[in-house]
Amino acid sequence: KPAEKEAATPMMAQYLDIKAGYPDALLFYRMGDFYELFFDDAVAAAAALDITLTHRGKHLGAAVPMCGVPFHASEGYLQRLIRAGFKVAICEQMEEPSEAKKRGSKAVVRRDVVRLVTAGTLSEDALLEARRNNFLAALSCLGTDERPEWALAWLDMSTGEFFVRPTAPDGLVALLARLAPGELLLPDTAIMARRLVDDMVAPPLVGTVEALDSTAALDVLGQEFGADAVSPLRDARSLCVAAGQALAYVRATQFDSALCLRPPQTERDLALMAVDAASLANLEILRTQSGETKGSLLDAVDMSVTAAGGRAMAARLAAPLAEKHAIEARLDAVGFLRDGSALRGALRDALKALPDMARALTRLAMQRGGPRDCLALGQGLTGAAHIARALAEQPDLPPALADMRTALAVEADAMTALANTLAQALIDQPPLLARDGGFVADDYDAALDAARRLRDESRRVIAGLQNRYGEETEIKALKIKYNGVLVYHIDVPAAHGDRLMNPPFNEVFIHRQTLANAVRFSTKELAELAGEISRAGETALALELDIFDRLREAILAVRPAIEARSEALASLDVTAALAELAVQHDWHRPQLFDDTRFHIEAGRHPVVEAALRANDNKPFIANDCALDGGVNGGVNGRTDGGHDKAGDAPRLTLLTGPNMAGKSTFLRQNALLAILAQMGSFVPAAKAEIGIVDRVFSRVGAADDLARGRSTFMVEMVETATILQQATPRSLVILDEIGRGTATFDGLSIAWACVEYLHDVTACRTLFATHYHELTALAERLDGLSNASMRVREHAGNLVFLHEVGFGAADRSYGIHVAELAGLPTQVTARARHVLQQLEENDAAGQKGAAALDGLPLFAEQPVAAKQTDALRDAMAGLDPDRLSPREALDWLYRLRALSDKQD
Ligand code: ATP
Repeated sequence: KPAEKEAATPMMAQYLDIKAGYPDALLFYRMGDFYELFFDDAVAAAAALDITLTHRGKHLGAAVPMCGVPFHASEGYLQRLIRAGFKVAICEQMEEPSEAKKRGSKAVVRRDVVRLVTAGTLSEDALLEARRNNFLAALSCLGTDERPEWALAWLDMSTGEFFVRPTAPDGLVALLARLAPGELLLPDTAIMARRLVDDMVAPPLVGTVEALDSTAALDVLGQEFGADAVSPLRDARSLCVAAGQALAYVRATQFDSALCLRPPQTERDLALMAVDAASLANLEILRTQSGETKGSLLDAVDMSVTAAGGRAMAARLAAPLAEKHAIEARLDAVGFLRDGSALRGALRDALKALPDMARALTRLAMQRGGPRDCLALGQGLTGAAHIARALAEQPDLPPALADMRTALAVEADAMTALANTLAQALIDQPPLLARDGGFVADDYDAALDAARRLRDESRRVIAGLQNRYGEETEIKALKIKYNGVLVYHIDVPAAHGDRLMNPPFNEVFIHRQTLANAVRFSTKELAELAGEISRAGETALALELDIFDRLREAILAVRPAIEARSEALASLDVTAALAELAVQHDWHRPQLFDDTRFHIEAGRHPVVEAALRANDNKPFIANDCALDGGVNGGVNGRTDGGHDKAGDAPRLTLLTGPNMAGKSTFLRQNALLAILAQMGSFVPAAKAEIGIVDRVFSRVGAADDLARGRSTFMVEMVETATILQQATPRSLVILDEIGRGTATFDGLSIAWACVEYLHDVTACRTLFATHYHELTALAERLDGLSNASMRVREHAGNLVFLHEVGFGAADRSYGIHVAELAGLPTQVTARARHVLQQLEENDAAGQKGAAALDGLPLFAEQPVAAKQTDALRDAMAGLDPDRLSPREALDWLYRLRALSDKQD
């Protein structure tokens, strides 16, 4: 505000002026070696970073809150602020303080914001996870509420990937869950979208932006990529607006810095298997329910050896395919490398040594790269050529691998030349920053070699000078040293200082500094030499920077060819990793069909299996599964489980069995098998015949969502509703314990109705686990429903879980048994058995609900176990353990045992 500025010091006025341009970001205001924050920014940052809030001067009569972070350690602080959901505007000093002084003693150093750091627009390694994409997503909401035309664009600044696709409102949440963008931009007018996103389980960080129109969007895109590259978007307004919105935001955060983005690619619809947000979370595909990668499916299957391969693996798992030939193409490639173990080993060894080319390229394009990035790209290109040769020697490469080979050979000669240049130009271990110099190899540039020779020669002359001065003055300890202030100087111990300050030596030696134990001098000769060294050093550095720029430009000139290589290498890494996985864990190639069968023989759950293996090498029990949906399904599957052709299996299997017997594991493993198969992986099963699944739905376990005010039951019903509305005859549905979160009869009725609906109306392939034994009676009425149960055996009063799925319903539920295993007090479990017995007897006598409970001796009778404890308590009443001798204590133990035997 003008009034504020008038009262402010010149520096504060500058601060307020700059800050006014970034009201929703924290302003990192550079002052010397620190970034300082003031006012509300300081209060917020100090709290978020747990650093001290101080005060500085006064503004409008009040002390100004302030905190600061050191420049050299700022990345760590930046990372924490970004994670906490802040945006940070970086304001640098645009001139040396000495420059400002020339304008007058009160002049303020010129400062300007050079970059806006936001969660979705990061490109530095320190702020990114190597094996994760960090997407910025932008939604466009055109059309009307009745006929919405929405599109989502997403880009990763650090790798250059840029995609866009149309999305229906009810597909948005699933798409966002799959991409997990670091930041999502919503147009300010998009009320419905905002509500959808706010309702997500783990909503992304949202930024509201002014809605862009399609002309402006096309302009932004055209300026960045050229009119030709964006012409495919010209006729797709919503795609164009979404992509333009994302790009405009990136531009606004990066100011004039060049970007390294590829033109937006449109993701094809229908090609992907849909996995909705809840299922992605429930099935723990990319991370576990608690948000960690460890323990997820990704963690269990990812054997890729490069960071780019890791990112590609995650992307494939989150978006399995739904087109048979595309999946087969991937499987062919995996199969080829599985069988060719020598080739696979060689490829994986070669890949392991490769750098992250995509990110190095981005850093160079954005002027943040250094000599190490150039070296990395050179090594990457050499590695890529080596891999291309290894593939070229292979006869009969399947098409997917042949495509990778082709991509690795694009402009081969130019790439080899570039790689050679880079290898010749750079030393083996260059420094991080170009401005430090010393990264160009000897013999690369004659002028540089000459400058370096001059510098080194002068250094040798200085060494000679030290010897000569030492002899002439007869001071053995005389040294020529270097520091930042005096540059080259002569240093003698304090005792010899006088000698040089007196004739005859004072004519040559000029006194500079006296310290406690040393005296320092210079000489004309030394100063001249120092000047020469410094000039030669400057010339050398300028030459090196020039060479760096040339190398950088040479690299950027062939960007598309490098990108094609890094993409092909990532795909190759994923393919070889999946092949390795198949070999190591004995996974098999799934067979895919266009019908709706789902026949699994000896399937396993990859994550549970790995956990069991790690835990005492316990075996995982494999299980079969046979389902068939749509018009084919519905024959009540042969009860012996035989299923060798489509239409031979039930649509819906109802799974009963005790807690802890492995129901959830079985359910999830089948969903995971479908996902793995369709992402193009072999699967943990002896045999898998899968009719392409269009959507996987999974409702597993109960999760409270109290933060958004929804109870367990509400969440469960919302998810169930989604499934019933969206599943098709080609879908695979996994439902675990529907209706558990409410009163018994309500829950049972809901579960009952859902089973009927899925069976009759949706006709999809369904696995339904339940504790409601009453549901098993449905098998008599619904011909596409079969009962299965988890086998258990009772042995010497103990329950043994066999983890085997058998045909037919479970005889009882064993819940109390499991409660006992879990360590519930005997008093409680004994009482529960008693109540259960009563309930069952009443049920048999035809009493229901309240009437049945009325008959229970809840208050009438003292619970059995309580009586026991009372008798024991009486016996112990007068006992004082501190006064007992060991002998007496032993006697007491015998007495107590006798007493308890009697009561049993
Ligand atoms: P609840 O009804 O309490 O949810 P559940 O029947 O769904 O139980 P799971 O959670 O699937 O049981 O499995 C319990 C544990 O049993 C697993 O953590 C795993 O250790 C073990 N288990 C499950 N399935 C198998 C299997 N096929 N082979 C070996 N161990 C298994």
